[in-house]
Amino acid sequence: MSKYLSPNFNDRKAKIKYLILHYTGMETGQAALKRMCDADAEVSAHYMIDEKGKLYNLVAESKRAWHAGVSSFEGQADVNSLSIGVELVNQGHAYQGYEGGYQDFPEAQMKCLITLCKEIIQRHDIKPWHVIAHSDVAPLRKCDPGEKFDWKRLSKAGIGVWAESFLHSPSVQSKNNISVKEKLKQWGYGYLSNTQEIKSTIIAFQRHFRPQNFDGIMDQETMMILDDLLLQKFR
Ligand SMILES: [Zn+2]
Repeated sequence: MSKYLSPNFNDRKAKIKYLILHYTGMETGQAALKRMCDADAEVSAHYMIDEKGKLYNLVAESKRAWHAGVSSFEGQADVNSLSIGVELVNQGHAYQGYEGGYQDFPEAQMKCLITLCKEIIQRHDIKPWHVIAHSDVAPLRKCDPGEKFDWKRLSKAGIGVWAESFLHSPSVQSKNNISVKEKLKQWGYGYLSNTQEIKSTIIAFQRHFRPQNFDGIMDQETMMILDDLLLQKFR
């Protein structure tokens, strides 16, 4: 594996807490690699995995890569200092309708990602609810890695969280009567100051945890998933 190809990093100002997954959203993996290694672009990630499962380590984990941009999670704004960023090569939503476009993430890529995530989580003791999407920390700007990304499979491999218990036991529903906004805030979301922001945040939540329907409406199923996850986080 070629190491530390990118000049785009600086020193961390905090201890690693989050693992953030992205897609590259560019025409090819090589184009994304070139951009993340270009000092003028001022973007990077710690890792990139191409469609064939080839892994690139662009920035040392001890350093602060520049992948999250303007972001917020659990009340913290310097998400780059707190996280490791992994980019999956995929053209993404911007290329929908083009040849290629937003594709399922290939098996070889997922296998490589699962191995890498397990190592990162172990090295830095990352909590399951701190394995998140770029769209979770920047729901007004970003939608990656998006609804085609298989978070459920990751959770089965021991990476991240997934809500299923409510299907077997509806009583798992939270007893606290706090508002939707407050629940989203407790999960970590940081952009909730008006109706439009709340809707974008619900879409981000659904892309992650209920990908078959991400209409931004807090229906009963979405609420039960959120309650289930909050119980897992705060149990
Ligand atoms: Zn991203």
